[in-house]
Amino acid sequence: MRLLAVAFLAVSAAASAQSPTSVEHDIARRVRADVEFLASDSLEGRDTGSKGYQVAADYVASQFRAIGLEPAGDQGSWFQQVPFRRASYDQQPTISMTIGGKQLVLENGKDAGLRPSVTAKSRNLTAGFVFVGYGIKDARYGFDDYRGLDLKGKIAVALQGAPSGLPSDVSAHIGSSKSNYAAAAGAIGFVEVRRNDGQSDTAVGRGGRPIIDWVDSKGSAGSVAPGMQLQLSFSNAWAERLFEGAPKSLDAIRRDAKASSRVGPRGFVLKPTISVQAESKWEDFTSPEVVGKLPGSDPGLAAEHVVLMAHLDHLGIRTDAKPGEDAIYNGALDNAAGVATMIEAARQFAAQPVRPKRSILFIANTGEERGLLGADYYANHPTVPAQSIVGLVDLDMPLLLYPFTDVTAFGADHSTIGATVTEAGRSMGISVSPDPMPEEAIFTRSDHYMFVRRGVPAVLLMTGHANGGKGHWDAYLGKTYHSPQDDLTQQIDWDAGARYALLNYRIARAMADGARRPMWLQGDYFGDLFDPNGPRTTAAASGKP
Ligand SMILES: [Zn+2]
Repeated sequence: MRLLAVAFLAVSAAASAQSPTSVEHDIARRVRADVEFLASDSLEGRDTGSKGYQVAADYVASQFRAIGLEPAGDQGSWFQQVPFRRASYDQQPTISMTIGGKQLVLENGKDAGLRPSVTAKSRNLTAGFVFVGYGIKDARYGFDDYRGLDLKGKIAVALQGAPSGLPSDVSAHIGSSKSNYAAAAGAIGFVEVRRNDGQSDTAVGRGGRPIIDWVDSKGSAGSVAPGMQLQLSFSNAWAERLFEGAPKSLDAIRRDAKASSRVGPRGFVLKPTISVQAESKWEDFTSPEVVGKLPGSDPGLAAEHVVLMAHLDHLGIRTDAKPGEDAIYNGALDNAAGVATMIEAARQFAAQPVRPKRSILFIANTGEERGLLGADYYANHPTVPAQSIVGLVDLDMPLLLYPFTDVTAFGADHSTIGATVTEAGRSMGISVSPDPMPEEAIFTRSDHYMFVRRGVPAVLLMTGHANGGKGHWDAYLGKTYHSPQDDLTQQIDWDAGARYALLNYRIARAMADGARRPMWLQGDYFGDLFDPNGPRTTAAASGKP
């Protein structure tokens, strides 16, 4: 899981958890065994591309084999090798700006942040800037900040954020798509300036650091829009100087943005130009997605696939630990717990007397903590026909620290999966609660979103705030999340793991057995954007309460 900030709204209500059955005890024991192995120090934090990750991947493949799944990776293997590239600088790039006829030198990592490139080894160019307001182009909401502006060969400068009043997941989607909008308008670079001058310059400080992305055999990369050469940021002082001689100062733009809720500040050409000379160093490596398949039983539906997936990677080893300090990011809950519960869901599928009607794919993802990279690569290069993937369940960071009695189902509101989750929860005495932290936009921040962007209805279940959950979430996100303390010293509630596995199994089973495939709801923003020609139904017809 990759979260933004840690801020919470209060949610109340508590219910008593039912006592576990013997089936649940067996599942709980196996979840424990798997988490204890995957989160052990010997796997060294399962960093993408590391030996520890590969051992974890081999383990998941052997579990898939034991359960009776078929390999569904590359060439009949369990693995889809994701081609990763690490780009870094041996020497920091030379950056200068010409402002008012004067050439001024900028230091990378302090005045500006220019990321290394995974697609252009040498960059040697001079370009001008165009301010593009929020830099949004979206038909549904009628935004076109590029209208009337010529971006060919230019660097787009956008104000951070989006007009207020948008649903939080739409806002997050738009916010993460800005460099794509800029590239589509012909820009070769993209800069986002902050909405207020007091914010820290973390993006600038990160500028010179290595980046990891996937780069496929055609040279396409996961997070670089075609034609985009410069991903830039500026310190506040330099961001303000970009607007020297412009029709409006950055200060005035920021004031306008605060005062008006819907209409973004209008765009215009900026006076300064930038010159960049940058040489990136590349190291290529692979790390696998682990893919297993349970063939469906219905001759008419077995060609369709429902996907269950969980990310297997975590953050590796801390490089700045003091001697004697715990340096291993074990990732017990993030996300050994998700992988272990996915394996148990697979076992449930294989153990039933009747196989599901549709086929099921089980995927352990790599590169999630590095930017949802493995899932994105798979979604763009699936090992089954892309159109055959009809729905997806993502298991990420179940907080197995208390007997949860409710869940939040991210993404469920957009499709018929919402009704499926409600029904499956009801069958187990688990209720579905509204998102307790909409500002995190979790729908767009985990692996399942990479499939949503390919038009696949998807859901991610978060264990809820009821029955003491809020306190556990506050404490976990406050202290443990993405720290070496997310390890086996936590008081893990293994029975909660069994319930999480069974609930996800029931949801996926209903998706696999349904007379109709999961469908986007009529008029849904994400369905209309990413799967405009797919089947639709109304909320009422989907059985949504
Ligand atoms: Zn994480």
